[in-house]
Amino acid sequence: MEEIIYLDNAATTKIRPSVVEAMLPYLTEEYGNPSSVYSLAARSRNAISGARERIAESLGAKPEEIYFTAGGSEADNWALKSVAEANREKGNHIITTKIEHHAILHTCEYLEQMGYEITYLGVDEAGRVNISELRKAIRATTILISVMAANNEIGTLEPIKEIGQIAKEHNIYFHTDAVQAYGQIPISVEECHIDLLSASGHKLNGPKGVGFLYIRRGVRIGSFLHGGAQERKRRAGTENVSGIVGLGKAVELAFADLEERAKRERELRDYLMDRIMSEIPYTRINGDRTNRLPNNANFSFQFIEGESLLIMLDIKHICASSGSACTSGSSKPSHVLVAIGLPEEIAHGSLRLTLGFETTKEEIDKTVDAVKEIVEKLRGMSVLYEEFLQKHSENKK
Ligand SMILES: *Cc1c(COP(=O)(O)O)cnc(C)c1O
Repeated sequence: MEEIIYLDNAATTKIRPSVVEAMLPYLTEEYGNPSSVYSLAARSRNAISGARERIAESLGAKPEEIYFTAGGSEADNWALKSVAEANREKGNHIITTKIEHHAILHTCEYLEQMGYEITYLGVDEAGRVNISELRKAIRATTILISVMAANNEIGTLEPIKEIGQIAKEHNIYFHTDAVQAYGQIPISVEECHIDLLSASGHKLNGPKGVGFLYIRRGVRIGSFLHGGAQERKRRAGTENVSGIVGLGKAVELAFADLEERAKRERELRDYLMDRIMSEIPYTRINGDRTNRLPNNANFSFQFIEGESLLIMLDIKHICASSGSACTSGSSKPSHVLVAIGLPEEIAHGSLRLTLGFETTKEEIDKTVDAVKEIVEKLRGMSVLYEEFLQKHSENKK
């Protein structure tokens, strides 16, 4: 296999070998159904409990407040739909933002069809939600505020502590989609007054198809899947034992070296941003310069198409993304880049590079060299760029 440079860790991450190792017994000889009575089953049950405890500890939560799901999208769907349904007598209004992941936005659109009213808060040019706009949006009928902890495209960290405080003051539930942030930055559900939090295994070097929803004790919320008594009768179905064990292990590893890893990634990321900005003209950084996820960098290069850039990077075995993975294949610019006010033609020339724990300086250097070469090549073929240069030189005359 060719050596690849993987800089798309916001899309998914490589599973750690020790996570696979922890999972393997539960895919082979430890196959007991956790609900059965014999000891084979008890071992599966205990493995799940261990993962639940580990995850609860990472958030300052109680184990019984962690509910396993089939990933981040399910956790988001559950939080929104089931809180909406269970609190219908109190009201039908939900506040979210324009820059959420589609797992939130499309669920909100569905809820609108079901008669709920949704306010989509705008963000500033760095991608931060406007707190005064949030305060103004609150109504007597507001039942839920859902704001992501960190944006998956531009990496901006949202002021979840302030939002949690406001939600608490108004007796409104606060949900945060922490799929990108969890395992990268410390989050305390107490400090931030979080009532519900979504996370996903494959975004933190764990397995795909497994995640969890944190539900604070006492929150009014319905069951997501009806059936057996699994997950305190709230999410039926025989547990994904190996997946849950893998998630637990990934969480343990992510939190064991969270600070050092973040520091290392932040340094490499800043080096990447500095090199790109100083070596490639007509480029901008999207998102906040410092108040962002340690591993996220997002650029817009004028006069080029992000999709062409991605294809040419792929030829050099570099994996990157232009906006959100989910928007690839559509010609509309990402809703996040539009929300931060980028003109469409600039949004189209965007590139997201997200680092992982294995990313090296050498890989960053190779990537910057490649991006530089490709941007120059693409601009060389661009009529717009030619016109721009002509105007530029005329102005100088
Ligand atoms: C990846 C992602 C999701 C979806 O998680 P899955 O486990 O892939 O379903 C939701 N929200 C954000 C912010 C994400 O980055």
